[in-house]
Amino acid sequence: METKPTVKHIPELIGVGKRTISTHGWRIPLVEEHLRGHSSTGLSQKWCSPECLARTFFGRNTQANRASIRRRLSRAFRMLLQHDLFLVIERNAHGPGAHGEVIALKLYEGDAHERAYAAEQVKRMRARRDLTDAQVRHAEQILGTTLEDDPLPAA
Ligand SMILES: [Zn+2]
Repeated sequence: METKPTVKHIPELIGVGKRTISTHGWRIPLVEEHLRGHSSTGLSQKWCSPECLARTFFGRNTQANRASIRRRLSRAFRMLLQHDLFLVIERNAHGPGAHGEVIALKLYEGDAHERAYAAEQVKRMRARRDLTDAQVRHAEQILGTTLEDDPLPAA
């Protein structure tokens, strides 16, 4: 059961060796901070992963923790959208399950390849009714595209 943190216990990411961990488990502002951290590395660590999120927010990279992370991503997407951020979620097309397993994620940075991928993701989320029409419009705004006017190349 989650309780509101008191003034003495502000949720934050604290450094532990080379990585950071959340003091309060899964918190969207901390998820945002963590993803921004990936974006600013400028190196090979731009993409985050369920493994990385499990370690950061639940302390350990276990199958149960990764599953718990994956279950939270649709909601995280919608909450980050409220901050004008687009969470790009890459799925393994050949993995188990109809939609493929989430393998990587990052904050959208305006790259053209990323935009095509993100547009596809919005279509998928819309088809699954993970997004309201207003949320779809908001996502289009961030991507600077309208899905109807931006057909993806045929497979
Ligand atoms: Zn990460």
